[in-house]
Amino acid sequence: MILSSNLFCKTHYEIIGVNEDASQEQIRKTYRSAILNFHPDKQQKSPKTSNPEQETGNQFLEVQRAWDVLGDPRSRALYDNELRKLRQDAVNAEDVSLGDMVVEDVGSCFELSYNCRCGDFYAIDSSELAEMGYPFLTDGSEISLRATSSVPASIILPCGSCSLKVRLVIDANDKIPIELN
Ligand SMILES: [Zn+2]
Repeated sequence: MILSSNLFCKTHYEIIGVNEDASQEQIRKTYRSAILNFHPDKQQKSPKTSNPEQETGNQFLEVQRAWDVLGDPRSRALYDNELRKLRQDAVNAEDVSLGDMVVEDVGSCFELSYNCRCGDFYAIDSSELAEMGYPFLTDGSEISLRATSSVPASIILPCGSCSLKVRLVIDANDKIPIELN
């Protein structure tokens, strides 16, 4: 079982638009004005723009979800702990690029792995990457990531056995040769 976290996801604080040390009152106020901006009722009256209604609808839900966590001091404290741990992992992790990984065609998808010094592996497969928004393109002998975003991202991969982690840095320009058995 692989637990990966995309550190480039926006935090709940960024979604609402407050500092992480904001008071509950500040968060509540900022949330209320954000929710008014994104409210679907308000969007219907505006003329058709390049921004489809769906996008503001999603933002509305994201803000709502962020508030569900940050609006309650107890769940906010839990979330803060999670964030802190994620960041600590990211600092301690070694950087690995897609090109450093061994790619294996396992039929339904591609499995990427990297040797840990304990003898086990860090691993992730292409379907998991696709779920995180990094679909693969294959052209017979090599695979690359579809350049849906030009922003490099990184994913923390834990080792299968020990507590070490690596940071997989994703660059849309990376191409990886497929190992043919
Ligand atoms: Zn290990």
